[in-house]
Amino acid sequence: MGGTAVETLRERLRGDVIGPEDPGYDGARTIYNAMIDRRPAVVARCADVTDVRTAVRYARDAGMDLAVRGGGHSGGGLCVVDDALVVDLSAGLRWVRVDPESRTALVGGGSRLGDLDHEAHGYGLATPAGVMSTTGVGGLTLGGGHGHLTRAYGLTIDNLIGADVVLADGTTVTASADEHPDLFWALRGGGGNFGIVTAFRFALHPVDTVGLAVTLWEPEHIGAVLRWYREFLPAAGEDLNGFFATLVVAPGPPFPEEIHGKRMCGVVWCSTGATDEESLAKTFAPVAEPAPPAFHFATPIPYPGIQTLFDELIPKGLQWYWRGDFFDRVTDGAIDVHGTFLDNIPSDLTTMHLYPVDGAAHRPGPMDTAWAYRDAVWSGVIAGISRDPADADALRSWVVDYWDAIHPHSMGGGYVNFIGQDEGGDRVRSTYRGHYDRLAEVKRTYDPDNVFHHNQNIRPASA
Ligand code: FAD
Repeated sequence: MGGTAVETLRERLRGDVIGPEDPGYDGARTIYNAMIDRRPAVVARCADVTDVRTAVRYARDAGMDLAVRGGGHSGGGLCVVDDALVVDLSAGLRWVRVDPESRTALVGGGSRLGDLDHEAHGYGLATPAGVMSTTGVGGLTLGGGHGHLTRAYGLTIDNLIGADVVLADGTTVTASADEHPDLFWALRGGGGNFGIVTAFRFALHPVDTVGLAVTLWEPEHIGAVLRWYREFLPAAGEDLNGFFATLVVAPGPPFPEEIHGKRMCGVVWCSTGATDEESLAKTFAPVAEPAPPAFHFATPIPYPGIQTLFDELIPKGLQWYWRGDFFDRVTDGAIDVHGTFLDNIPSDLTTMHLYPVDGAAHRPGPMDTAWAYRDAVWSGVIAGISRDPADADALRSWVVDYWDAIHPHSMGGGYVNFIGQDEGGDRVRSTYRGHYDRLAEVKRTYDPDNVFHHNQNIRPASA
């Protein structure tokens, strides 16, 4: 005792402990979003649950700020904080064990979606998560989790059976429907507020090959396409998912050269029902209804294939700024806004997505989990992305202007995992609507001193 945080933690932990003087420091403090440039006092790369408990206790005793890093994909960089102790789960807690008999997976709290997809796919199984394999299971799940399988099997939290959690006092509990049900309720959407999840247990589903399709239309058709999409998808079977996007076409296969670099709108589809050429052709025949597509491509693909589709296009190290909102309809006014902002999109990687959160995600009741928008049909995100740090201000102002214009057409709150880095506490309240006060009660029970506050913070209810 009595040494620096780095020295003391190095004596106590099995995992690597990295401080500002160490050669690996820059690698340990950088995250997916290169707009975030922070200098923690120490990064504890925990080898196991005991390391996590020790690090939490040390931070408390030493009065240090504590940040928790899972996959490091938080847009606002919540997982890395100046002068803090970062509990990094991404080394020792990155593992997955699948039980094909019970169709469940036990997943370490620092795993990535790709780790889970890979292991589960070995048994022809999957659970719904996001759309990129590099995203952390931890942050995505605790916020809710939507992706290619949402309409078929619900949100990621709808498939969570239990979680092992290190609490603010360094003790561990298991949360499930039978044990600490209040905590289990809060973990399903309430973010990293309640403790550090060292293992998640998920239900798996028989998903092996899926049908992937990408349809793109010229920007002048955005009105017709959105008017068609807003009716077509909610009426389609739950086995069909499709997120709408505005984008600039990437300069490579499978896109033909003549559309490289062009602004387009489109849908990225995933079908768990149509998984052969013939049924794919039938399922996607209606894409010609709003306007002739500039590009349409459909193919059967192993599920991990669709999950890694965008990994190379948007690697770690880009500039990111995003904001989101939930929508229960796509109004004509919103369509005009999307058209205007597609016309002045500020970079070739910038995009806007509308992710469906209906279908199976509408089955749980409004109070069943902390996710407070079971009545939303789309979770929208406006993501300004660029390779060039000089674009940072332009990205931010384009996203903010777009969000200001689209927000009146929204339901008022947005997905907690899409809250922008400079949005205030009011956004957290609007994310949780009527659930906020119940979350604050759970917070008081499990983290009364708000030790876990580098997140979309829920303040403990006052006594
Ligand atoms: P981190 O930055 O490591 O953590 C984010 C927050 O979660 C922090 O507050 C952290 O303290 C906390 N946290 C992380 N792990 C744990 C844990 N084990 N225990 C307790 N707290 C923890 N979201 C979707 O729902 N669907 C998508 O398809 C999707 N696609 C994305 C694609 C990209 C490229 C990016 C950058 C993000 C995407 N997201 C998506 C958003 C994503 O869910 C959030 O960014 C999420 O926070 C990422 O989690 P992480 O563990 O990688 O992040």
